[in-house]
Amino acid sequence: MANHNKRAIVTGGTRGIGKAIVKELAAKSCCGVLFSDVAFIYNSCDACAAEIEEEIGSLDTKIVGFKADASSFEDAQATINEAIEKLGGVDILINNAGITRDNLLLRMDEADFDTVMNVNLKSVFNYTKAVLKPMIQQKYGRIVNIASVVGLIGNAGQSNYAASKAGIIGFTKSMAKELASRNITVNAVAPGFIETEMTAKLNEAQREALLRNVPMGRLGTPEDIAKAVAFLCGDDADYITGQVITVDGGMVM
Ligand code: NAP
Repeated sequence: MANHNKRAIVTGGTRGIGKAIVKELAAKSCCGVLFSDVAFIYNSCDACAAEIEEEIGSLDTKIVGFKADASSFEDAQATINEAIEKLGGVDILINNAGITRDNLLLRMDEADFDTVMNVNLKSVFNYTKAVLKPMIQQKYGRIVNIASVVGLIGNAGQSNYAASKAGIIGFTKSMAKELASRNITVNAVAPGFIETEMTAKLNEAQREALLRNVPMGRLGTPEDIAKAVAFLCGDDADYITGQVITVDGGMVM
C-alpha cells in the first residue's frame, strides 16, 4: 500500500465507540502508516463534530465531519463523494452508526422496527455501496462493520436491534466473499456491553445483572473496540476477511 496517509470514513463518529475509532485511526502509527485522515458522519450534534475536528485534527491529519442521515441512500452517496474530494480518496470504511429503540415485541410499533433497521442495517448497505467503486479501482479497501453480541445470541426486548445486527453479520460475510479477489477485506466487530451513552440508560440492577455474565467483570470501553477495529484496518490483518471478532470480556464464548 502506498505510503500516504490512509483515508478513512467512519459513520457515527461524534460519540462513544465511533469517536474512539476516529481517534484511534488518526493516531500516530495506526494501520501501517504514520497517520490516517478521517471523515466522520454524524446525525445531529454540530457542536460535538466541531469539537472533534478541533481536538483530533492536526497538521498531520485532516479530520472532517459531515452531517447526514446514515439511513438515507442519497445522503450516503453525496457524503462519500464530498469526503473523497476532501481526503483525496478512501481506503477504510467503518460502518458504526447505530441506535436502539428497545421494547418487547408485543409493545414494539412498526416505526421502532423500521427506524432501527434503516439506521443500523440499511446504512451499512448505503455506505458500502458508495465506497465500492473507488476501492475496486485502487484494488485496496478495508471495511469494518460494527455489529453486537446481541446479533449473535439475541436479547429479550431488542428483537429489532438484534435482527439489524445479525443482518450486518450476514452482509459482512457476503461482501467478504464478493470482494476478496479485489484485495478488499470486510470484517465485523461485535462489542459486548460498552460504557457509552447507549448503555448509560441502564439502571444499577440491570448493570449488575449484566456484569454477572462478563467473566472479565467490567464493561468494555470505547477504546477496547477502537483497537480491534484499527487492527482489522492495518497491515497485520491483511489475510483476515469475513470474520466477526467479539470484543466482550469473554461474555459470549
Ligand atoms: P452512541 O454513543 O449512541 O453514538 C451513536 C453515534 O451514531 C453518534 O455519533 C450519532 O451521531 C450517530 N448516529 C446515530 N444515528 C445516526 C444517523 N441516522 N445517521 C448518522 N449518524 C447517526 O452509540 P455507541 O454506543 O457508541 O454505539 C456505536 C455502535 O456500536 C452502534 O452501531 C451500536 O449498535 C454498537 N454497539 C454498541 C454497544 C454498546 O454497549 N454501547 C454494544 C454493541 C454494539 P449524533 O450524535 O450526531 O446523533
